[in-house]
Amino acid sequence: MASKIKKVGVFTSGGDAPGMNAAIRAVVRSCAYYKIDCVGIYRGYQGMVEGDFISLNARSVNNIINKGGTILKTSRCQEFRTSEGRKKAFDHLKAEGIDALVVIGGDGSFTGGMIFSQEFDFPVMGIPGTIDNDIFGTLNTLGFDTALNTVVEVIDKIRDTASSHDRLFFVEVMGRDVGHIALNAGIGAGAEEILIPEEDLGLERLLESLKRSRASGKTSSIVVVAEGDRTGKNVFELKDYVKEHMPMYGVRVSVLGHLQRGGAPSCFDRVLASRMGVSAVEALLEGKTNLMVGIQNNEMILTPFEKAIKGRTKIDTELIRVSDIVTI
Ligand code: ADP
Repeated sequence: MASKIKKVGVFTSGGDAPGMNAAIRAVVRSCAYYKIDCVGIYRGYQGMVEGDFISLNARSVNNIINKGGTILKTSRCQEFRTSEGRKKAFDHLKAEGIDALVVIGGDGSFTGGMIFSQEFDFPVMGIPGTIDNDIFGTLNTLGFDTALNTVVEVIDKIRDTASSHDRLFFVEVMGRDVGHIALNAGIGAGAEEILIPEEDLGLERLLESLKRSRASGKTSSIVVVAEGDRTGKNVFELKDYVKEHMPMYGVRVSVLGHLQRGGAPSCFDRVLASRMGVSAVEALLEGKTNLMVGIQNNEMILTPFEKAIKGRTKIDTELIRVSDIVTI
């Protein structure tokens, strides 16, 4: 592939997600494959502003495909939000001879990439990495599948206690604006009810549903609650509310928190990261810029940053229907 690009900079930015290392590996190895140089940039845009770089070759990324987190570290960088900060970053990239970037992160990171790309006419390609799966232009973001598996494994364990003690558990999972984790992991873990930001079940209906479950012979229940659910109560207030109206139940709360963000990536995320890394480098070599790689119908596609940032992912309403049927 004849291309003007000779040296690609790769970095992770914003929240970490499982699969980021697998994506770094794929970018580095793709560069090696196409005989161009690759440089790792530490701590996202912060490392770019400071010129904190490391040369990476195919062997630098041995044994990282299986690791959670990111070997390049990640951070949030206020300075990059200013034009002076971005100019500093540009000067460091030029001095290092980097002529294209692959940013692995969420929509904030893509916004930074898009602004930078337009300001300095600099090729930038994005790989979506976030467990929330809230980025438009891809069916899956890196880390989402791993997070689902983690949540399901934990709820399976909570279920042991719930059923042994005839208890009702509220399990809070990540998802401030979107309920992808709650809905998918809730179905996968057999939750009785799933509360997501996209749908207001209402407190009355929640109670009715739990009472119906109880009357049908269920002695324990799991309710999965996304952080941003619309009941207007936080998960502890929900517990108190249900306890008040269903005194026969011992009600407990488990907030899963950051354990959902870590851990070894699932096989699905490793394969996806590998495909995305290859696609990102190949797109840059073809002269493309300002795009995010994604997967749709098992094919790699490219979406303009602007669309990826502004577009909203939609919850699969069919899953809500399925959940209602299988929790009867
Ligand atoms: P995520 O990528 O996970 O959504 P953030 O929203 O924190 O995470 O964004 C990561 C970084 O991207 C920010 O710390 C900042 O350096 C950069 N960034 C985000 N928005 C902008 C912006 N409007 N202009 C410049 N840089 C931005």
